[in-house]
Order: sequence, then structure tokens, then C-alpha cells
Amino acid sequence: MEFAHDTQVVLAAAASLVNTTLSEPDALADAAGFEAWMDAQPYTGDRAHTDDERTAVRALRDRLVALWPAGAGAECPDRDRTVELVNTILDETDARPHLARHDGWDWHLHVTPRNAPLADRMGAEIAMAVADLVRVDDLSRLRRCAGEDCDAVLVDLSRNRSKRFCDTGNCANRAHVAAYRARRASRT
Ligand SMILES: [Zn+2]
Ligand SMILES: [Zn+2]
Repeated sequence: MEFAHDTQVVLAAAASLVNTTLSEPDALADAAGFEAWMDAQPYTGDRAHTDDERTAVRALRDRLVALWPAGAGAECPDRDRTVELVNTILDETDARPHLARHDGWDWHLHVTPRNAPLADRMGAEIAMAVADLVRVDDLSRLRRCAGEDCDAVLVDLSRNRSKRFCDTGNCANRAHVAAYRARRASRT
């Protein structure tokens, strides 16, 4: 199963949003942190650059956490509950799917006008991307990092479903080093 490019980009952006809670302090705690995070995000369209805009994005973030397992080794979220959240967000944001091509991006899905509030645009696009996973019954692509002491969420859209570690930290390297040390220790 190949996922559309915009689905991949939007799901990665959703994981990035949820992971903003992990930095110290919270990356969305103030306007400067918010702008720095936004600079690395794929969203185009109008911006308000207000505290209300940031507050709305934080509120969206609080809801999106429920799309991922609650912790390492926890069950995947219930599909029907995910559907409920997806449908609620699509309804609230008055989503109207249409294709757009701009800023060097080939045809991709937009679901809100470019002057809709940022949090609505984010929420609607993420809801549509998650809808792709729901339709192929593949919500287990949304995972928690297997790294020790890491709470980051990730999206594994790889063909062989082999992604275990987040992109935010150094978790894969640390796990390799730990495994290497364990092997050496067991030999002595
Ligand atoms: Zn676009
Ligand atoms: Zn990690």
C-alpha cells in the first residue's frame, strides 16, 4: 500500500505537532517557539500570528494525541473512536475537499480555504490523512517510539513497517549502542 505524498507529509506534520509537548519548555509555550516550529512545517495559507492562533493549535494538539497509542507497548487506539474524532474535526472545520497546486507542490488535497484559521486547516488536513489510514484499516502505522525514556510519536509508512524509532531524538543510535554493549557484556 502506497500512501499519497500529501498524506505522508500531513501525517508527519501531525506527529511533529504532538511531539512539540516533549521539548523543554513546550515548543508551543510562546510565540517565538511557535514560529520556529511553524517554519519547519508544510502549511501554506494565511496566518494570524496571534496568541489565539497558537492557543487553537495547542487545543488541536491536545485532541490529536488520542490518535496514537497511549504509551510504549500500549494498544493502538480504537478505530471507531478515531473515526469519531476524524468526523468531528471534518464537521467542525466545514471541510470541503478540493485539489490544489501551488508553491512547487503538485496536485494535492486541500480541505479548507487558505484564509480559514490555521488550526482548522491543520485539523482538516490531518483528519483527511488519518481517514486514509482508517479506510485501509492500518492505524497501527501510528506508533510510539521504541526508544527507552522516549515518548515521541511517529508515523511508519514504510513498505515493510520497520520504523521503530522517532526522528526527533537519537533513539535508534542509543538503542544500537545499548544492544552492542549488552552483547559485549554477555561475552565476558
Ligand atoms: Zn497546499
Ligand atoms: Zn524516540
